[in-house]
Amino acid sequence: MDYWCRHMTGGQAGTAYDVVIVGMGPAGATAAAALSRGGLTVLGFDKDTHPRYKVCGGGLSARIGRLLDPDFQSVVEHTVNGVQFVYRGQDPLLIQSSEPIAYMVMRDRFDHHLLQQAAQAGTEVRTGEGVAAVRQESDWVEVITEQGRYRAKIVIGADGANSMVARHLFADRFLYRAPALESEVFIGNDRAYPGPSAILVDVGAARQGYGWIFPKQGRLSVGIGEFRGKSTRLRATFDRFVGGEPGLAGRAVPRPVGHPIPAFSEGMKREDEKTMSQFVSGRALLVGDAAHLVDPLFGEGIYYAVRSGQLAAQAILANVRDHRVSMAAYEAALNRDIVPDFRVTARMARVIYAFPRLSFKLLRRYQDVVQSYYEVLQGHTSAEQFLADAKKRLKASVNDLLLEALHLR
Ligand SMILES: Cc1cc2nc3c(=O)[nH]c(=O)nc-3n(C[C@H](O)[C@H](O)[C@H](O)COP(=O)(O)OP(=O)(O)OC[C@H]3O[C@@H](n4cnc5c(N)ncnc54)[C@H](O)[C@@H]3O)c2cc1C
Repeated sequence: MDYWCRHMTGGQAGTAYDVVIVGMGPAGATAAAALSRGGLTVLGFDKDTHPRYKVCGGGLSARIGRLLDPDFQSVVEHTVNGVQFVYRGQDPLLIQSSEPIAYMVMRDRFDHHLLQQAAQAGTEVRTGEGVAAVRQESDWVEVITEQGRYRAKIVIGADGANSMVARHLFADRFLYRAPALESEVFIGNDRAYPGPSAILVDVGAARQGYGWIFPKQGRLSVGIGEFRGKSTRLRATFDRFVGGEPGLAGRAVPRPVGHPIPAFSEGMKREDEKTMSQFVSGRALLVGDAAHLVDPLFGEGIYYAVRSGQLAAQAILANVRDHRVSMAAYEAALNRDIVPDFRVTARMARVIYAFPRLSFKLLRRYQDVVQSYYEVLQGHTSAEQFLADAKKRLKASVNDLLLEALHLR
């Protein structure tokens, strides 16, 4: 530490940081708080000043309660225990759970809350200062902003879907980013739609994706995403979704804003990339969207941003305490904790988005299977376990139907 330059402006040298974090969204802020609590010196940059608007549905699966301090509830706007599924605005089907499945937040308040926690833990936070470049040498990394140059032992790229850190230090990465659009519809004191404790998911609204309405205080976050294949005319798809949605009839829907969703996609790696790490390169780690840690079925990324921020911090703390522990421990933790979920949800996405109408019919018929998926969102079971149980359930049901058809029952 002592022999490094912490902050060099105009060539003046100070002391270095243990870790510099680029991006203070949920992934960066969570990693920062954990590292600062672990006793490291941490500097976190964000190009925007917080609180800031972020294009996002702001739906947190309930299992996030296992990762965060309970006071995150202070920024929760609605607690949701059901999903109203529709197909192209028609045939509403509400499937509920007796427990919460999700929390609705506005990202300006939620992200600011996490950022304040990082600052309280001791992270030096510089907002409104974007990082323009990052480079690494064998013993240190250098981060260059409009205002100065900073050195650290380790850099975390938490700079979202268009990650500069990934571009600079994980060259030639070719990973799919799903296009998405989001608009905030102000409803004032009107009743939330489809209700304060339910979200709406339109399975037929998009090609290889879905449309959503997430209720917040005084507004609805309305969006559409296509999670597979090349998107065409997403704006027209959004307009059709909004136009066909009874709950939005007569409401002014502001022009939607686009942002990519970096859905996890191992299958799309080029042959030469298959041996390359997506997550660790020398002294650099990627977390959250920068690492493409977004569920390819629903586009859920906040839970995985927080989880990957925590796992990155654990690996760095272990490495600082004992240099024999390699940073590859982070990659191993992701492969244990997160990637198996994505392998399952990628398989589900392939089927559901290829046959949306059939999938919608199956939702109606197998509501108990949907309820078991809620248990994944609640953190009671893993996606892998869900898939194994669902397969057994569907197999038994097909057997029953066959026996019935053959009059053997
Ligand atoms: C339309 C849409 C809807 C979504 N809905 C949901 C949802 O309902 N639930 C869910 O779980 N996920 C949702 N997601 C995904 C979710 O938004 C992301 O997965 C999540 O924000 C990832 O967090 P992060 O911290 O990795 O990145 P981000 O939240 O993107 O944070 C990155 C931060 O880095 C900063 N930054 C970027 N570049 C630089 C730079 N060069 N220098 C300094 N700072 C920089 C940015 O200002 C930003 O604050 C949605 C995404 C989209 C596009």
